[in-house]
Amino acid sequence: AWLARPETVRVFAALSGETGATRAVGGAVRDALLGLPVADVDFATTVHPETVIARARKAGLKAIPTGLPHGTVTVVAGGVSFEVTTLRRDVETFGRHATVAFTEDWAEDAARRDFTINALYADADGTLFDPLGGYRDLVAGRVRFIGDPVQRIKEDYLRILRFFRFNASYGRGAFDAEGLSACVRERKGLRKLSAERVASELKRLLVAPRACEAVSVLFASGLLCDILGSVPRLPRFDRLVEIEAALDREPSAILRLAALAVFVPEDAKRLARRFKLSNAEQALLALAGEPFDEALPDEAAAKRKLYRLGPDDYAARALLAWATRAAPATDPDWQRAATLTGSWEAPVFPLRGPDITALGKFSGPEIGDMLRAVEQRWIAGGFAEDREGLLMIAGKLAADRDG
Ligand code: ATP
Ligand code: MG
Repeated sequence: AWLARPETVRVFAALSGETGATRAVGGAVRDALLGLPVADVDFATTVHPETVIARARKAGLKAIPTGLPHGTVTVVAGGVSFEVTTLRRDVETFGRHATVAFTEDWAEDAARRDFTINALYADADGTLFDPLGGYRDLVAGRVRFIGDPVQRIKEDYLRILRFFRFNASYGRGAFDAEGLSACVRERKGLRKLSAERVASELKRLLVAPRACEAVSVLFASGLLCDILGSVPRLPRFDRLVEIEAALDREPSAILRLAALAVFVPEDAKRLARRFKLSNAEQALLALAGEPFDEALPDEAAAKRKLYRLGPDDYAARALLAWATRAAPATDPDWQRAATLTGSWEAPVFPLRGPDITALGKFSGPEIGDMLRAVEQRWIAGGFAEDREGLLMIAGKLAADRDG
């Protein structure tokens, strides 16, 4: 079905011509074979980049030379972007910063990729081209390096993290032993990677279907401490994963990172710096450093918390507290507390500044103070008072002050 999408068809059609051949490659082919939804489609082609641009434009498609030195052109069809990369072969140097030469040899292009499951190609009619046995590995849930794992890791140390990320996403059973021991052997290379590249792979790993297994193997092999720069706590991570599954909740990478590695506020700051996290991510991470509560809050206390924290922070902190307390994922009381955002909408405080001003007794900053004092009463009373009752409370507080 993904090959029949009008945009994909248009790109295939545009690139076909007298010479050359074009195939979809990588993630799209892999995910389609597994029956998973296909996000973006990448193409590999024997057509040289200038010709890719010319043919795309002739077919009325936008073509942007986004990575000409390594042969990549972005072709846009119907608002969808496709990366079209001319087959290449490394010369002299290897890896990410390698000098490349173009080739017409599909096997050579395949050999430059990282894992056999990523070296799968599909023609426009769906014919599979699988030069390295990637399909068999995919079906078996085996993530296998192409070529000698140690050498491939030395070309690009990010492949260590990708090995774990792809295992977390597609693996079944034990990790490929040769690949795993190469990752452990070359672990010092992780230090050479930029924070952004590490963070991006780590975040994807943490939300993958088999994240718990991948995290546990990473830990057992000593790599997880290197990556996080601290000693993590696996049980809390596993419990959060279980809880999210029990609630059918979309996993959040940052919340999972928090469960794994944030115990005191300083942890959150350190990780935010280490992985160059955004302000929003940093704020979410910081929640884990603050205690939610000693125990499960009763319903009234939970509502007060939700009102004060807002729905997002409340839900994040409740989930973390639940995982920290080691209550089972089936616990109905924790389930109720953690899903309160879905069953109860926090009311809006019915008084505003002019209501206080109208009492005729307050001015300037006193108005805000008074408003907050009444709001605190309202929260403590379980949000029961309506506007009229609150005006009476305000009047009484004012009278008390005078008396
Ligand atoms: P996803 O998009 O789900 O991460 P993908 O396989 O499409 O999966 P991309 O990062 O988009 O991954 O890369 C596209 C293809 O390029 C991969 O399938 C792989 O063949 C190759 N590739 C990407 N990164 C590397 C790398 N670091 N080393 C070797 N090959 C790589
Ligand atoms: Mg991709």
